[in-house]
Amino acid sequence: MPISSKTPVNTNENPVSCYLVAGMPVINEGDDLAALIDSLFELQDGDVICVASTIVAKSEGMFRNLEDYQPSQKAAHIAEAIGKDPRFVQAVFDESEEVLLEKPFILSVTKFGHIGVNAGIDQSNVGGGKILLLPKDPQASAKRIRSKLSKDCAVIITDTCGRPFRCGVTGVAIGWSGIAALRDWRGERDIHGKRLEITQEATIDEIAGMANLLMGEAGDGTPVAVIRGLKYSRSGGQLFMPEDIDVIRSRLKS
Ligand code: GDP
Ligand code: MN
Ligand code: MN
Repeated sequence: MPISSKTPVNTNENPVSCYLVAGMPVINEGDDLAALIDSLFELQDGDVICVASTIVAKSEGMFRNLEDYQPSQKAAHIAEAIGKDPRFVQAVFDESEEVLLEKPFILSVTKFGHIGVNAGIDQSNVGGGKILLLPKDPQASAKRIRSKLSKDCAVIITDTCGRPFRCGVTGVAIGWSGIAALRDWRGERDIHGKRLEITQEATIDEIAGMANLLMGEAGDGTPVAVIRGLKYSRSGGQLFMPEDIDVIRSRLKS
């Protein structure tokens, strides 16, 4: 007997499909990502469009030259300890609200609340000897891209990140619009009737992980993935853990 659930589920009759958008060009400042995606892929209402932060940042002109950074003494000191270019370390500091770890890599809180290594600054898939900062406000970027799409879709801006406690990188969401960050299972019952009391599932990170798996990390040239058929709530949830309840963050600082 199948276990019944009031929660909508995807089965072989209503599957979830994942597609890469083929044919995206190398993105430059000012490119209209929504228009490009629309022209290359037949969207449907309800699709979840995952866009690599790299191309969002490129379209928003977040390229920088290392020569434009004047490293402080502190940046120079840390750069030497971790074997990085002092100008790169300065760029990371400039993008950070707070530095949580300086060695053996810089872990910091970005100005929009995401915690990541090197403040998410990329040197791969950038070109021209430049560095690429993350979008300034990925939440706003996701909202803008979504509002320009021809269909009523959700948008998730992804980045590839490392994780504490586990080896290997995965995709995570750094901005989203039209989809809830979390799925709240509290109050639902398990297969034995026990009420769930704690579980909140980071749905958009799970989707970002799948999208990132399809996108690849190197020269694949596929920065947009579309997830179709997934059931999801349109709004709600908080992805970045509030500082006052983040025990790992407070330990890093002690
Ligand atoms: P990140 O995870 O957002 O840091 O982005 P990655 O550098 O890992 O790139 C993700 C995917 O986007 C890979 O398939 C890259 O080849 C691709 N990519 C990056 N920049 C561009 C671009 O300007 N145009 C295209 N077509 N693909 C890109
Ligand atoms: Mn990145
Ligand atoms: Mn990546």
